[in-house]
Amino acid sequence: MDTQLKLLGRDAPLAVDPIKHLKPGIDPSTLFHRQLLDGAFWQRIPAYRLIDEATFLDHTWQAKNTITNPAKLLQAVQHLVPQSFYDDVADGFHKSPMSIRVSPYLLSLIDWSDAYNDPLRRQFVPVASRLLPDHPKLTLDSLHEQADAPVPGLTHRYPDKALFLALDTCPVYCRFCTRSYAVGVDTDEVEKVSLKATEERWERAFKYISERPELEDIVVSGGDSYQLKARQITLIGNRLLELPNIRRIRFATKGPAVMPMKLITDHEWMDALTAVVERGRKLHKEVVLHTHFNHPNEITAITKRALDLVFERGIITRNQCVLQRGVNDSIATMQLLVKRLGHCQVQPYYVYVHDLVKGVEDLRTTLQTALDIEKAVRGTTAGFHTPTFVVDAPGGGGKRVAHSFEHYDRVTGVSVFAAPSVKPGFFLYFDPVDTLEPAVQERWKSESERQKMVDDAIDAARANQASSARASSVR
Ligand SMILES: *Cc1c(COP(=O)(O)O)cnc(C)c1O
Ligand code: SF4
Repeated sequence: MDTQLKLLGRDAPLAVDPIKHLKPGIDPSTLFHRQLLDGAFWQRIPAYRLIDEATFLDHTWQAKNTITNPAKLLQAVQHLVPQSFYDDVADGFHKSPMSIRVSPYLLSLIDWSDAYNDPLRRQFVPVASRLLPDHPKLTLDSLHEQADAPVPGLTHRYPDKALFLALDTCPVYCRFCTRSYAVGVDTDEVEKVSLKATEERWERAFKYISERPELEDIVVSGGDSYQLKARQITLIGNRLLELPNIRRIRFATKGPAVMPMKLITDHEWMDALTAVVERGRKLHKEVVLHTHFNHPNEITAITKRALDLVFERGIITRNQCVLQRGVNDSIATMQLLVKRLGHCQVQPYYVYVHDLVKGVEDLRTTLQTALDIEKAVRGTTAGFHTPTFVVDAPGGGGKRVAHSFEHYDRVTGVSVFAAPSVKPGFFLYFDPVDTLEPAVQERWKSESERQKMVDDAIDAARANQASSARASSVR
């Protein structure tokens, strides 16, 4: 190689014919996914005006200064929003099934001059004036996680994988949490099931897992793995790695999206996770991080620094996102999120159509919205960076690809899914009532009309299955 270079003349540039570009040129300034918010952006918040970078990056400072009620929000944001907004938050707070918990990092990323429309405010801070009535078909724990739990906090729904809810707290609380039946503290609206981080409960889960040879894959979630102490990460990681049947472990956490600095400054936690990943690698077992970014604004220069560290340690990171109205239900926003995650070496794994969750009807979209966005995202980047859009079928059918419905009535908003390898029967998803035609909204008010809409959808699904079966060689 070296000789060749010498022969060619190392210093002289090679003469290359002009390149004929087939695609129109791109202005690099339009590659927004690479443009990350940097600098002391938190100093825009009155309470953080004098906070220096070292303090802001300290995860213990972030945890200590987390906002847990409307009064604390007022103390932090002060004059940036009018009193009427705080009143709206206070009212929303009382009506909400989830507790409020917002990190200073998140708070600093909200555009308080447009608080009502801000995509991060919408996810974390409830306002009463924007709430919509729940869908009539909604139940708490719509995913039947508790019904499918042989041991409290261990959901075994799919043949070879299980969901282990190690604890019931998170670094922040999301309004739209699917596990509002357990996660967070009791609210005026909901008394929670307790899933405390006790080793005794964990041991029962490990025992169950060890008695089920078909189980190979454990999702460690909660709550949130970020809240586990370093020694708890080690304990859970090692106990699972030692089970011969276990081949894959995922630690699920919202943390990188809402408090990325912990990955930079909590060395103990990072080292504990890294040690489990490395031990797993030696045992030929995969240990990865699953995170939960929903909007490109959640990814800043701090996030990039944090995820660079994760990447340097060889830890694979994937993202699970929830599709939400007014947050990420546009093609441009989802494309930007996917590209920005890819830029940080995070693989976009799933986009969930919003579960039927109490108190957040304003955040749900129609199934059609998911189908449209999926179509536009696919083809913009690597296939392995293209998320699968799924509906986690209410009633315990598990995740189904959004496009795979047996029937979808866009007028009544009823979609029907089947999950032959999970559970027999049909699983229904419902578009938000307020998105339907006024006459159909009226039908949803009547119990008998509701039943008729559901029965019609199931009949149509059956007919569709019968005609598919005629064309298929699968018997
Ligand atoms: C999502 C989920 C899993 C993991 O499913 P993947 O599709 O492999 O990500 C496992 N168990 C339960 C109960 C789940 O909800
Ligand atoms: S971080 Fe996850 S488990 Fe915790 S409140 Fe948010 S959605 Fe729920």
